[in-house]
Amino acid sequence: MKNLVVVGGGYGGMRVLARFLPNQLPEDVTITLIDRNPYHCLKTEYYALAAGTISDQDIRVAFPEHPRLNITYGEVSGFDLEAKKVLMKDMEPISYDDLVIGLGCEDNFHNVPGAPEHTYSIQSIDKARETYKALNDLPPGSTVSIVGAGLSGVELASELHESRPDLNIKLFDRGNHILSTYPVRLSKYVEEWFLTHGIEIVSNSNITRVEPNMLYNHEESIYSDAIVWTAGIQPNIIVREMSVEKDRQGRILLTPHHNIPNNENVYVVGDCGSLPHAPSAQLAEGQAEQIVLILLKRWNNEELPEAMPTIKLKGILGSLGKKHGFGLVAERPVTGRFARFIKSGILWLYKYHNG
Ligand SMILES: Cc1cc2nc3c(=O)[nH]c(=O)nc-3n(C[C@H](O)[C@H](O)[C@H](O)COP(=O)(O)OP(=O)(O)OC[C@H]3O[C@@H](n4cnc5c(N)ncnc54)[C@H](O)[C@@H]3O)c2cc1C
Repeated sequence: MKNLVVVGGGYGGMRVLARFLPNQLPEDVTITLIDRNPYHCLKTEYYALAAGTISDQDIRVAFPEHPRLNITYGEVSGFDLEAKKVLMKDMEPISYDDLVIGLGCEDNFHNVPGAPEHTYSIQSIDKARETYKALNDLPPGSTVSIVGAGLSGVELASELHESRPDLNIKLFDRGNHILSTYPVRLSKYVEEWFLTHGIEIVSNSNITRVEPNMLYNHEESIYSDAIVWTAGIQPNIIVREMSVEKDRQGRILLTPHHNIPNNENVYVVGDCGSLPHAPSAQLAEGQAEQIVLILLKRWNNEELPEAMPTIKLKGILGSLGKKHGFGLVAERPVTGRFARFIKSGILWLYKYHNG
């Protein structure tokens, strides 16, 4: 039997499992899934968990069951690519014939002193839980500073306002307009929403230092009862420490077939891999589907196409609390209740198909 080891049961890892199981897995292959959590976590909803508008259980999806799927719960500590082993903390290494690495990402603090120690995060479920506790324990009228007004910062600020309208929320962003990678019409719509809901946007900010309860924007100090960091991501530390070639963001460079160059048995999926798009759950899933096709072809000794088709992304949707939203669907801007409705529908479908 060959052992395919999938490291990380996030969006990429789950899609690999979903495409192989129940009927597509060749008879001579077993899959071993390794994750630190005993369920798949809906990372795209961590902002709502942190804000306190959904429960922990709402964002857990059970891993699939299959006679040839073994699941190991534990902490991955590294890889021995020569010996074809996944190294585990406090456990024996796990051998693979083929490996898919999908360990996701972590905050990037851009070397801002004090930021790792004195800010909260929504990049992992345990950190989102800590953030939930900190934000929801705050006394009335407290000030919360959120650093970074990309999708996750915007979603957190608006959801927190819905959960705790008594808080003073400040959203810091480097640019002239929040959501700088979106069409101006969308940025303006979201800014207007924040204005009418009393959330302060601090544009052209540059966070130079963080101390306990104190944020420094340029040289100005701003007292904050809690500070949340949503200002950038980088691949998982385990991947950053691998001695393979990476791009400027620290993501692993891959062949067109999503494997590490000169190693046809090691694939990288999702936020850890260097791809020509910004990391997203959608991208991780699209890439996972291609990895499954490539594995099937390689196992059958079939020839591979020189390049894989471009991964088609359907768009991106963000929420502004539970009633409003914004985004791009088939490259067209959508806003308001309609955008929120589609976003909720997509989440419902995801849980329905994977649960
Ligand atoms: C607030 C927020 C909102 C977002 N909204 C969207 C959105 O609307 N649309 C979209 O497409 N994307 C969105 N994203 C991005 C999306 O969540 C990620 O791009 C996606 O999760 C990447 O999938 P992945 O499979 O690479 O990693 P992940 O889904 O992060 O999975 C990584 C897995 O690895 C496991 N793991 C990590 N380290 C270890 C270890 N050392 N040992 C064992 N297990 C480990 C984790 O438990 C996890 O199960 C959002 C992200 C955030 C934070």
